[in-house]
Amino acid sequence: MKTNRIVIIQCRLSSSRLPNKALKDLGGKPLLAWTMESMKKVPADRYFVATDYDSYPIIKKICDKYDYECFEGELNNVLKRFCDLLQKVKCETVIRVTADNPFLFYEAAISSVEEFENRNKNKNHCDYLTFTGLPHGSGVEIFSKTSILKAAELTDDEYDKEHVGPALYNHKENFVCEFIPSAARFNFPELRTTVDTFSDYLRAINIVKFLHEKESPFTTEQIIEACKSKEVNSPMIFVPSVKQGHGTGHLRRCLAAAIDSKGFVFIPHDATLQEIPSLLEEYKTYGLEEFQIIHEIPDSSYPPVIITDSFVISEDELNSYSHAKSLIMMDEGSDLTKKADYLLDIIPSVKSNRISNLTDSGFITKPLNVKKEKITTFARILVCVGGEDPKSLAIPSSNILSKIYPDALITTIVSESVYDEIININTNQNISYLKKIENLREKLFEYDLVVTHYGLTAFEAIYAGCATLLLSTTKLHEQLAQKYDFAFIPENKLDLETVKKVIQTQNLYPALNLNSDNRSLGNFLQEISLGTKYDCPVCSKDCNSSDENYIVARNSTRTYRRCKNCSMIYISWSCVQEKKYEKSYFFEEYKNQYGKTYQEDFESIKKQCVKRVQNIIEIKRRTLGKNVLDIGCAYGPFLSAADDFNFTPFGTDISSDAIDYVRTKLHFPSVCSAFPQINCAQEFGITQFDVVTMWYVIEHFQDLKSVLTKVNELLKKDGIFAFSTPSAEGVSAKSYKENFFENSPSDHFSVWEPSKANVILKKFGFQVEKIVSTGHHPERFPSIKKSNCSSSSLQWKIVEKLSKVKQLGDTVEIYCRKIRDL
Ligand SMILES: [Zn+2]
Repeated sequence: MKTNRIVIIQCRLSSSRLPNKALKDLGGKPLLAWTMESMKKVPADRYFVATDYDSYPIIKKICDKYDYECFEGELNNVLKRFCDLLQKVKCETVIRVTADNPFLFYEAAISSVEEFENRNKNKNHCDYLTFTGLPHGSGVEIFSKTSILKAAELTDDEYDKEHVGPALYNHKENFVCEFIPSAARFNFPELRTTVDTFSDYLRAINIVKFLHEKESPFTTEQIIEACKSKEVNSPMIFVPSVKQGHGTGHLRRCLAAAIDSKGFVFIPHDATLQEIPSLLEEYKTYGLEEFQIIHEIPDSSYPPVIITDSFVISEDELNSYSHAKSLIMMDEGSDLTKKADYLLDIIPSVKSNRISNLTDSGFITKPLNVKKEKITTFARILVCVGGEDPKSLAIPSSNILSKIYPDALITTIVSESVYDEIININTNQNISYLKKIENLREKLFEYDLVVTHYGLTAFEAIYAGCATLLLSTTKLHEQLAQKYDFAFIPENKLDLETVKKVIQTQNLYPALNLNSDNRSLGNFLQEISLGTKYDCPVCSKDCNSSDENYIVARNSTRTYRRCKNCSMIYISWSCVQEKKYEKSYFFEEYKNQYGKTYQEDFESIKKQCVKRVQNIIEIKRRTLGKNVLDIGCAYGPFLSAADDFNFTPFGTDISSDAIDYVRTKLHFPSVCSAFPQINCAQEFGITQFDVVTMWYVIEHFQDLKSVLTKVNELLKKDGIFAFSTPSAEGVSAKSYKENFFENSPSDHFSVWEPSKANVILKKFGFQVEKIVSTGHHPERFPSIKKSNCSSSSLQWKIVEKLSKVKQLGDTVEIYCRKIRDL
């Protein structure tokens, strides 16, 4: 059926920001093909790509493949290109699309063209129409042929000529132009789907990766889901060391991880490592794709997850990643690890005093071929000092070994340049020189002795069952060799006597005692890359960036820092999904944690609440009234205790189930609301309370600044703000720091230290009046754990007393007074 419409995709290859972008590979086809396929979903009589004369031969081929007509015209005067095409085609309505939009909303396009035609049909004349509010790069423009031809005659403006649409909508005195807010399902102005820059291109690749199982062109909902997903918004960029002198191991490891994770590998144009081209070819045979190798890092419009494998990173390099979404470091040897959101050690590091999030040698790919027995007389020896040999140790060590083992066959790997020289002058019958050994890992077992330096090959050789001797290439390598019990030749001691002595006296088969499971590094890092970075909950972004703050603890899923500015300990990075506090929290989680439901525990919780009310009474000024607001009131034990002491309790909680209970069973005014969003004046008719409380709630807020500001607002002058929270100065935190943070729930964003509370609270107009150490557990003290004494023993009673006197309880109640407005 005739529609009297045509589709024109405007396309040129000479884009300055991203040359040839229309041809760039996206999921196995050119980017332009995506635009073509989506527009084919829009009914029209003819489909064109309008390009310039130079681009025509290449674009024509793609048009033929995707059943489009190809039109060639002016490069810069695009308006003329359009008009020249329209002069030759019979149609009424033109749908204009640009080729850099692979994720068009074709349903929105259909609906906008119908809207345009209906208006004109109903004598509601319209020259130009477009929907607003679509993601940047998902919309189209509709205009009539006669209007645009007329507009072209009227304008001399360069901008109009270059951009077509403005020839109409910048001349509203002559044309009726409609910008219509799009329907809600298309309205996502905060999203970006266009491909204008290199960062956009990487985003497009990740959108396709996210939707790879879906058929293209993707639907509106699929595109939106992808654009909003954590996966698309966490582009993984592996940054291996590609400096001559650092070996090929870093690049190899990153290429392998990129294959598993479909992440990108950054290789700067000035990379000096000679083996790059051959390694890329090798890894392409294992599944690495061309587009995974990138030569620039996405900018802050698409913040990357940077994964460094640098050996020793420089400060300059680190600074260039300051816009990263998060920074993951692998086997980092520098002292700059503070900046890392996540620190992963795979090859055990010498820096045992530094904390890493995870040390797991399971990520070393173990050789499948393993020697059956330990050999003591060496018939085959391999000398391999990395893909290169910065200290030129390979040849002298081979010569020494050939004197010690004249009957052995020695294979020595040398770099390409050395190879050409040595091959002509080598007179040593039992040494053979090679440029490299393909798939070395699986060939190691053929050698009785492997001579290398500290690094991946050393571990692989041990796993392959070979005797292993290390040469010292750097001081760090030497320390590492020593730490892990490898036999090693000290730096600058490569002579016959020393080598002989080391082989005789040191253990060539160290028991590494490492994790022996094989794990995919790429898959693991893919999960880690979805983690979220957090600022200090008190200061937010105000004072300094989070990675300037000191590391307090790291564990496999979280990193804790202490804010330089306010001294709060907080989660600075976490890969644990954020929790929602629904009914299940009280029913399941509480039970899991405490062995009974919250309601079953009501009376015993209320007993503690009575003590809290008494503490409040003790410091409360008589002039104050008795209105108390309990934030996070749950099923109301504190409200009930306050009521017993003639307070007037009000409650709020985000659990509707809990609020129902408080209202219908306890009959206290209460509102289901998030905090600080609640409007107390509207809900309770009260703007300021005499007492505001939060029992085990404050640690759950990611943004404490707005919470404490709101508490100040809700309190009368001299009013009491009281809360309880786990203490980072209790016996568990003091004696077992790592365990304490490991066990600290992943939704406790702030971890309070009673001694620092006043400094933080003062910023929000509060003065601490009383601190009560609670949660005393003698059984958690090292001395009780050791003696295993009973709770009736004298030792137990002494420790219990000590816990109270020294305030070593694992929880704390903090009572403060509002001393000023903010
Ligand atoms: Zn802070």
